[in-house]
Amino acid sequence: MKKIAVFTSGGDAPGMNACVRAVVRTAIYKGLEVFGIMRGYNGMIQGDIVPMKSNSVSNIIQKGGTILKSARSKEFMTAEGRKKAYENLQKLGIEGLVAIGGDGTFRGAVEFYKEFGIPTVGCPGTIDNDLYGTDYTIGYDTAVNTALEAIDKIRDTADSHDRVFFIEVMGRDSGYIAIACGIAGGAEIVMVPEILMSTAEVAQILQAGWKRSKTSSIVIVAEGDEEGGAQEVADKIRQMMPNQFDIRVTTLGHIQRGGSPTARDRLLASRLGYAAVEGLLAGYKNVMAGIINDQVVYTPFEDTFQKVKPISQEMMELVKILSI
Ligand code: ATP
Repeated sequence: MKKIAVFTSGGDAPGMNACVRAVVRTAIYKGLEVFGIMRGYNGMIQGDIVPMKSNSVSNIIQKGGTILKSARSKEFMTAEGRKKAYENLQKLGIEGLVAIGGDGTFRGAVEFYKEFGIPTVGCPGTIDNDLYGTDYTIGYDTAVNTALEAIDKIRDTADSHDRVFFIEVMGRDSGYIAIACGIAGGAEIVMVPEILMSTAEVAQILQAGWKRSKTSSIVIVAEGDEEGGAQEVADKIRQMMPNQFDIRVTTLGHIQRGGSPTARDRLLASRLGYAAVEGLLAGYKNVMAGIINDQVVYTPFEDTFQKVKPISQEMMELVKILSI
C-alpha cells in the first residue's frame, strides 16, 4: 500500500483534529502518500481530496472541530454515489482509507468495501461514547468536561434559589455522557435511555430528598431518554406536583461538541490515528481501532454497529448511593 486517505464523518467531535494529525504524520513516517478528504463521504463523491503534508496538520492538535470538515452524505447511501466516490479515489491511486466517525460512517465503509474492495480502518470519533469495541470514543471526555463545567455553574444558582434543575445533555440513544456528568457533577438523579426510570420515580426521589432537607436538586436527562427530553420530564413533574418545586430546565446543546480537546482525548486520538495506519499496513480491513483496558484492539465494523456497549450498572448504582 502506497497511498491512503483520511476523512472525518458524521457528527464532529473534539479530538478529531488530533486524530487526523496522527494519521497524516504516521503515514508520512511509514513512507506513504496521504490525502485528506473534505466533508466526509460528500468530498469523496465530489473529488474534494487534498494532499496532506506534515505541516498540513501543524498547530491543530489543540483545536476542536475538524479541519477536514464533516458531513452526513445522502448520496453515499446510493450505489451511484459510491461509484463516483470510488472513481475519484481510483484517479488518485488511493488504496486504503482511515475513517474517523461513528457507526453510520462504518456502515458506509462496509458497503463500499463490498462493492469496490477498498479497505477502511476506523477511529471512533463521536462524543456519545456509544460504540462497541472501545472503552472510550474520541470527543467523549471533552464533551463530559464541557457539560460538567456548565452543570457546576447551574448548581450554584440552583442552590442559591432552592431550585430543581433538569439539565439535558447529549448522547443520542446512549446515556454515557449523562451518567458521567451525573456522577462527576453530583446529580441527584440521572435519566438514561438504557434504563427506564418513570417520571413517578423521579418525583418520588425528589420528594424524598426534600424530606431530608435537600433544598436544591440536579436531574440530568440524556437527550434520548424514553420519558422524553428534560423539558418534557420537567413538564410532567410540574403537572404531577403543582407548585411543589421551583423547576427550571436547561438544554446544554451544541456547546458539548466544541472546544479544545482534553489531554485524555488528544492522547486517545493520537494513539488511535497511529493504530489505524498500522492496521491498514498490516492488511486489516473493515475494523475499528479502539482502546480496551488501555490496549489497542481492532474490532470488526459489523460488531461496532450490531453489538451494544452496555451502560455500567455499577455507575448507575453509584448515582443512587452518592446522592442520599
Ligand atoms: P455520529 O455518531 O456522530 O452520528 P455517524 O458516523 O454514526 O456519526 P451517520 O450520519 O450515521 O454518522 O453516518 C455518516 C455517513 O455515513 C452518512 O451520512 C452516510 O453518508 C454514510 N452511511 C451511513 N450508513 C450507510 C449505509 N448503510 N450505506 C452507505 N452509507 C452509509
